[in-house]
Amino acid sequence: MIAVLKGGVSDEQRENLCRWFESIGLSCHVSKGEFHTIIGLIGDVSKVDIEMLESLSIIERVTRISDPFKKANRKFHEEPTIVDVGGRKFGGGNFQIIAGPCSVESEEQIITVARAVKASGATLLRGGAFKPRTSPYAFQGLHGEGIKLLLEAKKDTGLPVVSEIMNINDLDLFADVDVLQVGARNMQNFDLLKELGHCDKPILLKRGLANTLKELLMSAEYIMAGGNENVMLCERGIRTFETYTRNTLDVSAVPVLHEYTHLPVIVDPSHSTGYARYVSSTALASTAAGADGLIIEVHNDPAHALCDGAQSLTPEQFDGLAKKIARVREAIA
Ligand code: PEP
Ligand code: MN
Repeated sequence: MIAVLKGGVSDEQRENLCRWFESIGLSCHVSKGEFHTIIGLIGDVSKVDIEMLESLSIIERVTRISDPFKKANRKFHEEPTIVDVGGRKFGGGNFQIIAGPCSVESEEQIITVARAVKASGATLLRGGAFKPRTSPYAFQGLHGEGIKLLLEAKKDTGLPVVSEIMNINDLDLFADVDVLQVGARNMQNFDLLKELGHCDKPILLKRGLANTLKELLMSAEYIMAGGNENVMLCERGIRTFETYTRNTLDVSAVPVLHEYTHLPVIVDPSHSTGYARYVSSTALASTAAGADGLIIEVHNDPAHALCDGAQSLTPEQFDGLAKKIARVREAIA
């Protein structure tokens, strides 16, 4: 349920109202927009008397929200949320490119790629140290050593870094990682999501392989319910009957999510398609659709990559794409 306050309501009046809601067992989520202040009410609202509330002089209207996600809901928070990662802003018209290898493999690899993508316009560096692989025999990442090398690349280039966390017990290793990625396979690892709700780092939450957008929003809600509202959503392709691509990019996720939520929406054209030759067109389409950022895999030697080489762009290909992305951004501005 949301209560939209009338213009000119004082902080004291709003706080008194919130105290009253809390006294009947509800928690309040206050969102101050340009035109309205909205109080989102979370809890059992079945006993709330809407007519009585609407008769109060400070309330403009009261609406029940039937969607099961509340804090992530656009109705709770009309303005887009802007997630700020060391000055790189996502959302509300701000756009960033995250680029880098699927996995951190060596110091030379991550530093080479980091310098190259920065020179081409990437504003954050990605690199996995804990890899969720289908086969237990495949490269699983360099773990703590991988994080250490990623942080060296951060120091060298100044780029904030994004890396996937699979197990909350590893959280200490991520102390200097700027954005924690929750991978597609962990989108519904609710214990992990709850723990991430208690940390103060931005979270990049990827859509599960076979999950609806509502389920993605419910997973964001798990993180936000714990108090961490710095969540970015990532469309990374879903599993369909199509076999010519690794997954099927759901470009419509961008406008649909923007309608239902205030959280920034990022697109990953690399995992969506699985092939480097399809990354450019899908990255441009996602940009044109209004994505708040892209996350793109780039490797200095894709043929010898330890993970996801087929979908990785070379630094030269990334450079060409970054220029085209800038042109699309200008065209839609
Ligand atoms: C990744 O980003 O390398 C990754 C494993 O992504 P996803 O969870 O989307 O498959
Ligand atoms: Mn990958």
